[in-house]
Amino acid sequence: MRDVVVIGAGLSGLTAAWELTRSGRSVQVVEARDRTGGRAHCPKVNGHPVDLGPTWVWDSERSIHRLLRTLDIPTFAHFDDGLDVYESDGLQRGRFPRSTVLSRRIVGGAARVAATLAQQVDAIQLNAPVRVIEPIKEGLRVVTDAGHFDAHQVLAGLPPSLVAPMISELDPERAQLWSRVPVWMGDIAKVALVFDRPFWKDHGWSGRGASSRGPMSEIHDMSGLDDTPACLFGFVPESAGLDALEDRVRDQLLRMFGPEAVPTQVVLHPWWREPFTTTPQHRGDLRLFGHAVLRAPALSGRLQLISCETSGVSPGHLDGAVERAQAVCSAR
Ligand SMILES: Cc1cc2nc3c(=O)[nH]c(=O)nc-3n(C[C@H](O)[C@H](O)[C@H](O)COP(=O)(O)OP(=O)(O)OC[C@H]3O[C@@H](n4cnc5c(N)ncnc54)[C@H](O)[C@@H]3O)c2cc1C
Repeated sequence: MRDVVVIGAGLSGLTAAWELTRSGRSVQVVEARDRTGGRAHCPKVNGHPVDLGPTWVWDSERSIHRLLRTLDIPTFAHFDDGLDVYESDGLQRGRFPRSTVLSRRIVGGAARVAATLAQQVDAIQLNAPVRVIEPIKEGLRVVTDAGHFDAHQVLAGLPPSLVAPMISELDPERAQLWSRVPVWMGDIAKVALVFDRPFWKDHGWSGRGASSRGPMSEIHDMSGLDDTPACLFGFVPESAGLDALEDRVRDQLLRMFGPEAVPTQVVLHPWWREPFTTTPQHRGDLRLFGHAVLRAPALSGRLQLISCETSGVSPGHLDGAVERAQAVCSAR
């Protein structure tokens, strides 16, 4: 019997496990995938980590910046100097409105935060998808494909709609509400586009673009420090479909950025095809992000949701995942 089982080794789950470990609790993390990080996913392309999930943190976000400072992980300012491009029937170059809050990138990619936390948490069981959470005497049992784990408390660091079907004892109203919470960015494919050099900077272009023709609705610079690698990325909505997507992406780049816009690598990551991120309900009700009901303990106070969707401060963001995990742990 542990003090706490944490479900999910994404940023919320690992922040909680790290905080609880530091305060001397016995913790077991169970993770469905064969890696940590969840939506923060940065595989190496030509030897460099490329973010296929989150790209930015914002200067207004306190919890993630505090954690980055504690873990000694540096950030750098997102590049968006110069002219943007907008595509509809034709092309228009200019400067789109911007937020006054500076956006930053994490050196080494967003997955570095989860990986650093994971190094300081002893018990992480990968390849252990949770199927059932059930009450037992003085606690809860978490049944996974790699065995079961009992604890006094369970923290669920995964989208609420993925948790609801695991619990037959959940009251129907709560189960219905959890099931309708969309997964943040669960209906997006991120496309990373790696180039030999950041040719857009030579023209005084920011690399930022928007298009009503698609398939990429938005494009931004995502180059690494010192432009290593030189990189743009695009968001493709699920409605654009996957048929011949790489060809359509390449055509769009040529239309919007000219003949130099030939990437050496195109990496497509459709998040709606990831069963440990999304559910068929991922389109749910956007008003439920950060809803107070998601923060109310369930199963006689033994289960709490902590994923980014449940934060009342930065719902959906990395900052929200950290804020919510730390708020729940400090209340214990
Ligand atoms: C394309 C994209 C772009 C984004 N851009 C930004 C951005 O620029 N800035 C920003 O702040 N945020 C951004 N986000 C959101 C950011 O990724 C999330 O806020 C954050 O990663 C969520 O962390 P989490 O721990 O709440 O959930 P997750 O990262 O989803 O972690 C959940 C974990 O639970 C595991 N799991 C799922 N099912 C089971 C099961 N049955 N049993 C056991 N484990 C299970 C999963 O494998 C995963 O590891 C973006 C997300 C995406 C997809």
